[in-house]
Amino acid sequence: MDEFDFDTLAVRAGIERSQFNEHSEALYLTSSFVFKSAAQAAARFSGEEEGNVYARFSNPTVTAMQTRLAALEGAEACVATASGMSAILSLVMATLQAGDHIVASNGLFGATQQLLGGIMSKFGIETTFVPATDIAAYRAAVRPRTRLFFIETPSNPLTEVVDIAAVAAVAHEAGALLAVDNCFCTPALQRPLALGADVVVHSATKYLDGQGRVLGGAVAGARAVTDEVFKFLRTAGPTLSPFNAWVILKGLETLRVRMEAQSATALELARWLEQQPGVARVYYPGLPSHPQHELAMRQQKTGGAILAFDVEGGRDAAWRVVDATRMISITANLGDTKTTITHPATTTHGRVSAEARKAAGIGDGLLRVAVGLESIEDLKADLARGLAT
Ligand SMILES: *Cc1c(COP(=O)(O)O)cnc(C)c1O
Repeated sequence: MDEFDFDTLAVRAGIERSQFNEHSEALYLTSSFVFKSAAQAAARFSGEEEGNVYARFSNPTVTAMQTRLAALEGAEACVATASGMSAILSLVMATLQAGDHIVASNGLFGATQQLLGGIMSKFGIETTFVPATDIAAYRAAVRPRTRLFFIETPSNPLTEVVDIAAVAAVAHEAGALLAVDNCFCTPALQRPLALGADVVVHSATKYLDGQGRVLGGAVAGARAVTDEVFKFLRTAGPTLSPFNAWVILKGLETLRVRMEAQSATALELARWLEQQPGVARVYYPGLPSHPQHELAMRQQKTGGAILAFDVEGGRDAAWRVVDATRMISITANLGDTKTTITHPATTTHGRVSAEARKAAGIGDGLLRVAVGLESIEDLKADLARGLAT
């Protein structure tokens, strides 16, 4: 499959037909597999013979999804997990031990911050959070036992863009791995491994499924890393269900088309929002006004499908915009074909103290929109109603 382009891999990588020669990918809803003989069972268990044994660690539908995602990321291998968070947990558990240290960018997904900064500290793994765009700060945070750098770009909700190649250089100088959460761009728009990252993690729940149906996650990258992740998953069991793998596998087929269409609408909406009275600032990497616009255009294919904007008048004005929508979904989820709107200060970042929120630049008037596939005119009309008040 190596000779094929992204679009071809997205619909064809990972297919292994059964004896029925089905055209569409088969869904193998089975937890275990049978052997021809006692000798074969022994050989499969010992690893002497390749083949499926038990779905905690292998299932043909999950394997197909892993193979396809690895091809799209340009990764040697991929391990699928039950959710994005279990992908991150598995990576940390597989590659670190007590006493090790992580350098992570500020503004990570909330649960990732709690996992790295909170739960992992119970097991003797410490994390230093640094300003996402300050390369010197990453270098200054390095300790003798720094083993992992973890970044997310663009960040949520302010769409800060982290220079992947620059952070990779710092990580490798320190003898550490660089992991990139590629949830927001997906391999359709950004390929972190080609920029020097060692491993990519995904919440497949978002754009990889793309239609808001299932939870899933993945770790893709160098085989030396994914082999360790597989050993952890095999024993600990944060496994992706075959059904969810099948949904995500089919989602990957339309990934690039969706990402580009949703990005194009997001760009048009961002430009329009910049012109609206009552909008103080728009955050979108595809706009020339974005502080890292140049870097974003070098590193990503488009600005992505997520934007944020500050409404003048604080919380009350922002809530009026949310409440005046009739079509856009009021939900904190993203990565769907349906556009969503959220008020970060009182939802996703509601448990963060007011001072910390302010320091992170998340004001009371900030709104985040994850743009879907609806018509741009309908989206503008839905937001204009609230902005007019
Ligand atoms: C949603 C999300 C996660 C966590 O994924 P789940 O599938 O919800 O566990 C991790 N990182 C980012 C950037 C996300 O948006």
